[in-house]
Parts: sequence; structure tokens; C-alpha cells
Amino acid sequence: MARYTDASCRLCRREGEKLFLKGQRCYTGKCAVMRRGFAPGQHGQGRKKVSEYGVQLREKQKTRRFYGVLESQFRHTFETADRMKGKTGENLLRLLELRFDSVVYRMGFASSRPEARQLVLHAHFYLNGKKANIPSMTLKEGDEVAVRPNRRDSVKFTELSVSRPIPKWLTFNRETLTGRIVQLPAREDVDLEVKEHLIVELYSR
Ligand code: SF4
Repeated sequence: MARYTDASCRLCRREGEKLFLKGQRCYTGKCAVMRRGFAPGQHGQGRKKVSEYGVQLREKQKTRRFYGVLESQFRHTFETADRMKGKTGENLLRLLELRFDSVVYRMGFASSRPEARQLVLHAHFYLNGKKANIPSMTLKEGDEVAVRPNRRDSVKFTELSVSRPIPKWLTFNRETLTGRIVQLPAREDVDLEVKEHLIVELYSR
């Protein structure tokens, strides 16, 4: 399975903002965006003029990298969003929020989406009572995510400290290590500053 393996902080520096890919480090002074707030590479501090296409491309790349999705899968998600009723851009963001790994992150089981992806891949969770380990699965309203009983004693979960607020479209029970999607995420629930209409324009070219 293909995945991005280069340095995560380069992605944030390229987008010029924090994408929160490294857990607690992102909240400290060690964050690369804070220390070197320019694009990586030899010409990172060079020319700044960006075309209309460049602006659209950056918005798409930022969103894709924030959710940890590779291009082909992102494109596939966009096409699914385009076939749904309603605004394509909002549908796209909702589908990305509803990815299994993103839901695990938003419930507070992991300190970053990449970590959540790994926890899902290592089959730490039940989805509606059954073992599930596909990070890209799209969950739906009413779905329940729970740590598998034989994984509850892992240090990861016994020392779980949820410092981020749990969004209102989710519930989380710290005693049973179980969370549920109580409603679909709305546009204002997305915690990324993104102009999704630029992504729609890019793919409509
Ligand atoms: Fe991005 Fe986190 Fe690295 Fe900062 S520390 S550049 S937010 S991944």
C-alpha cells in the first residue's frame, strides 16, 4: 500500500501553515513552521508570485496532506462527493472527516492523523462490534468505534489523555473507550482553514 514516507514537517512548510502531523511536537517551539516559516528546498525563500492554478493546487494539496490521503484516493473521494446531493466541496470535506482514521483522531485516541492511521492499520478497534483495519473506510451516522478488549491494557489507551475538544458530532466514553458518530459533521466542524471551492475549480478544469 502506497504512503508518504518523507519528512512530515516539509509538507507544513510547503503549505506555509501547521497541518498538525506530528502530535505534541506541533504545539511546541520545535515546530518547523515556527522555526523556519518558509518553503523547503533551495528556492524556498525565492519567488512568491503564484498563478490562479497555483493557488487552487496549493489548496488541494493542503487539504490532501492534512487528511493524509494520496492523490488517486483524494480524486476518487472528490468524484464520490461530486455524485452526492448538495455542494461538492462540502461533501468532500465531510467524506474526509468521516474516514475511519480521521474519526479515530477526532475521538482523541491518537495525537495526530498519521498516528490514528497506524492504530487502525494495527487493528486496535472494533467498528460496530467487528474488527476493522481499513483507515480509508467512510463511516456513517450511528457507527460505533471501540478499542478491542485485548488492546485496552496497552499503555497507549490506559494513559489516554484527550486534550483536544471532542467535536459535537461525536460522543466519547473514556471508561469504555468507545465513541459514536451521533450526527454527520457540518462544514463548520472542519478544523482546517480551507477554501474548498478552489479544489472544485481545480478538478473542473
Ligand atoms: Fe507541521 Fe507539526 Fe511539523 Fe509543525 S511540528 S511543521 S505542525 S508536522
